[in-house]
Amino acid sequence: MLSAAEALDFLLAAVRPIAQIESLPTLAANGRVLAAAQTSHLNVPPMDNTQMDGYAVRAADCAAGSAKLKVSQRIPAGHVGQPLQPGTAARIFTGAMIPQGADAVVMQEQCELEKAADGGLVTIKHAPQAGEWIRRTGEDIQAGSTILTAGTRLRAQELGLAASVGLANVPVVRKPRVAVFFTGDELAMPGEPLKSGAIYNSNRFTLRGLLENLGCDIADYGIVPDSLEATRDTLRQAAAGNDLIITSGGVSVGEEDYIKPAVEAEGRLNMWQIAIKPGKPLAFGEVNRADGGPAAFFIGLPGNPVSSFVTFLLFVRPFILRLQGVADVAPKAFNMRADFAVPKADRRNEFLRARINASGGLDLFSNQSSAVLTSTVWGDGLVDNPPGKTIASGDTVRFIPFSELLY
Ligand code: AMP
Ligand code: MG
Repeated sequence: MLSAAEALDFLLAAVRPIAQIESLPTLAANGRVLAAAQTSHLNVPPMDNTQMDGYAVRAADCAAGSAKLKVSQRIPAGHVGQPLQPGTAARIFTGAMIPQGADAVVMQEQCELEKAADGGLVTIKHAPQAGEWIRRTGEDIQAGSTILTAGTRLRAQELGLAASVGLANVPVVRKPRVAVFFTGDELAMPGEPLKSGAIYNSNRFTLRGLLENLGCDIADYGIVPDSLEATRDTLRQAAAGNDLIITSGGVSVGEEDYIKPAVEAEGRLNMWQIAIKPGKPLAFGEVNRADGGPAAFFIGLPGNPVSSFVTFLLFVRPFILRLQGVADVAPKAFNMRADFAVPKADRRNEFLRARINASGGLDLFSNQSSAVLTSTVWGDGLVDNPPGKTIASGDTVRFIPFSELLY
């Protein structure tokens, strides 16, 4: 059986990134992946400007520590002042361009104004350094520099940065098209009565939520009965217009598990079973397309709700990001103190649901069963416990927060 790391390497090595690129208004590009590096044609800020409300002065005029200067002009943000004459000060407001001749700003708290009809006199009670409170041209970004590289996911801050250099449109990779279906004769949808022996299809909600977070176009084929024919049929339909097919359930070795034979009949299975807990019966392969085009990728997730959630986060998420050309798909993990014990080692790599407590350590959810979805709501993330390892209270463990995995 492959380790989690080997399985992930295998999956990522198989990815054929989406080649189609589209240009989007920057305002509509949240969550998308940049298809080409972006260069700034501007300096940001484009001009020297003041960081404070106050008075623009010549520092030399104020060197004595107290200077009385005539207020010669008023410069709000967005307006251009006149050159500053020696022995005068300009009333100036945050973001306004520094007038020619001024080389410092004194904040208004260090100044005292004597009002008069012609603007008055200001006493500057501070000897500024040259450059004080001035934001310099190009301090943030210099014209000609690369601001964002290809393969960057555009979050709010990347969009802001792109906008700050005036980019109205950005080239992004086409959204991944992902088909999903849910196998199981026992499944019912919320809103339907629950017949004896049935359960609700919670995976449909979890997996669709996760796919939406990743900005996928989703084709949802709903609940598929436990039969080879129905499974093969749905796989064929799903392969037609999608980059990736994701299924839940039916992927173990039971007589009612039809995913494996169905994928083998409609394409090929390239990997099956990973030495992790929860989530051992994960399957990876390809499903052929009727038109002979490149096969659709296939990932079969286990039916148990926690298993499908965890395996999505660990394997499907990086796969979908890499489909869009994202280079660094590894979530950030943190070394944290376990305020719990795992006295019995498991042969598999365990991903335990844990929560950050008030003293900065980790508590473990009491029931780590792969069917107990409550653990995923209670928890803040996963403790990545290597195979064969026990944990004593006070040990340092590797913790991957859900916040690193859910976008
Ligand atoms: P399976 O992998 O099909 O053997 O399913 C394993 C367990 O997960 C069984 O207890 C199923 O009832 C449950 N299960 C399968 N699919 C879902 C689903 N979509 N939502 C909630 N539980 C499921
Ligand atoms: Mg089943």
